[in-house]
Amino acid sequence: MAGTSVLPQTPLLILKEDHKELSSSLKEQEWISVIKKCKSMKELKQVHGHILKLGLFSASSFCASNLLATCALSEWCSMDYACKIFQEMDDPDSFEFNTMIRAQVKDMNPEEAIFLYIDMVEDEVMPDNFTFPALLKACAHLRALPEGMQIHGQILKFGVEVEEDVFVQNSLINMYGKCGEIRRACEVFDKMPHRTVASWSALIAGYANLGMWPDCLRVFNEMNSGGVFRAEESVLVSVLSACTHLGALDSGRSIHGHLVRNMNGLNIIVQTSLIDMYVKCGCLEKGLCLFQSMTKKNRMSYSVVITGLALHGHGHEALRVFGQMLDEGLEPDGVTYVSVLTACSHSGLTKEGIRCFERMLSEHEIKPTVQHYGCMVDLLGNAGFLDEAFELINTIPIEPNDVLWRSLLSACRAHQNVELGEVAAKNLFELKPQNPSDYLMLSNMYAKAQRWQEMAMIRTEMANKGLKQEPGSCTVEVNRKVYKFVSQDMSYPQCEGVYEMLHQMEWQLKFEGYSPDTSQVLMDVDEEEKRQRLGNHSQKLAIAFALIHTSQGSSVRIVRNVRMCSDCHTYTKFISTIYEREIVVRDRNRFHHFKDGSCSCRDYW
Ligand code: ZN
Ligand code: ZN
Repeated sequence: MAGTSVLPQTPLLILKEDHKELSSSLKEQEWISVIKKCKSMKELKQVHGHILKLGLFSASSFCASNLLATCALSEWCSMDYACKIFQEMDDPDSFEFNTMIRAQVKDMNPEEAIFLYIDMVEDEVMPDNFTFPALLKACAHLRALPEGMQIHGQILKFGVEVEEDVFVQNSLINMYGKCGEIRRACEVFDKMPHRTVASWSALIAGYANLGMWPDCLRVFNEMNSGGVFRAEESVLVSVLSACTHLGALDSGRSIHGHLVRNMNGLNIIVQTSLIDMYVKCGCLEKGLCLFQSMTKKNRMSYSVVITGLALHGHGHEALRVFGQMLDEGLEPDGVTYVSVLTACSHSGLTKEGIRCFERMLSEHEIKPTVQHYGCMVDLLGNAGFLDEAFELINTIPIEPNDVLWRSLLSACRAHQNVELGEVAAKNLFELKPQNPSDYLMLSNMYAKAQRWQEMAMIRTEMANKGLKQEPGSCTVEVNRKVYKFVSQDMSYPQCEGVYEMLHQMEWQLKFEGYSPDTSQVLMDVDEEEKRQRLGNHSQKLAIAFALIHTSQGSSVRIVRNVRMCSDCHTYTKFISTIYEREIVVRDRNRFHHFKDGSCSCRDYW
């Protein structure tokens, strides 16, 4: 009479009514279904007790396995209790070991998972293709490359069935990606006979993890060109951040389209990443538009927009949005204040910046970090209050770092205060003796002051230390592909066309009254070579390339790795008039929008 139809709805019911006759007559399969119906630890413990009483625990391995799996892997699981059940087992088999390994990884105890595997091997229980994905995930969590590689070695020993299991391979790619061994991740990926969305996602995440943005975007485009796969949301966020770093607006736009088509509404994280992408790719308008349309905004979305406004030099607007955030009752944090103070310093809003800083301390009781002090040194220094900036560095309660001294040095260079600049440089070189651009900043300052001897000394010091400035480089996106240009580099395929274009541009520039500012070349070479070196600065190469390959009237967007030299700045202003193009350049600190012969930074950068 003990068919499935008489099984009570919840396991508790059987036990409460103590239908001993019924429960002892239940078959193995029926017990398993009772176990699976458990909805809490309390229920499970009672079923466990019953099974023990009836002697089924050791008699039926199915009962024990299912009890373990339900206890270890359900939402309301208890790892302590699962461990107890596991210890009661006489000879746990691979299913039970796999359950425990998976559960430990899920419970964020990756070390325990690896110890279990060691026990498993010692007990001579054969691992299988269900063992390795969880185990590799544990290694990925721990960034344990040597262990991960050992496990990979063992997988290879188990033969094709395990080696070619798609879950095992995806887990290997993920593990190598997280451990920063992207080359090995690619090896596994390349050898895969069948790939899934997860294989592509793991590889993309691996590149994102290492900040290898161009590869991140390339792999994503390859995945899409296959047309088969739909990327997961998390991957799209990684790829969005690649676009943000590269200034790849067209690719970012197409991901936005992808998201709108494939997702049912975008969550606040995705929306904020989209805004970040638009503003940092130079499309402030679009970012603001998205921000306006958000039904729910949080602190992060406000900070992203304030930073965006700061980068584009809209200080007053940034302060207005900050006010709006406070009106909405959102509490600002340290990150918000970095954005706000940056906005003030980029727009020369000195008084407002000082007021915000005071407000941060008194009203919001946020303890300033070195980043906040950095903003304040920038704020004071840019406005020419060099002594005040120096005073601030000397009186702050934390140890000043290289960033603060670099800000001061940069402000001293801009305002040509050589004496204080030397002090800043001395402190800076003590903290960071190996940064060539810092030495160049000082030597540049000497050059401007025509103190050639000191300049030569700095150059000699650099040479003695073996310091070489990394060449300036720029990226520009054309037809959804990102191209990189390095100063003086002639190695890329479109080289010839670019140099022809540069020549043509030079001719027109001369006609319009531009002459190269050779004082920007800090090298002991003759005037002609200086001119040539200036002419091959990466930004000019990138502009020439973009003018050839994009349609008339469309804007050109460039991302730089180092600060723009003033000759490139002047040159780009002229080009924006001659070719009637808007040119947007992002450097490490801010945006320059060149249009009709002038720049949004008002030559203040
Ligand atoms: Zn330049
Ligand atoms: Zn500018």
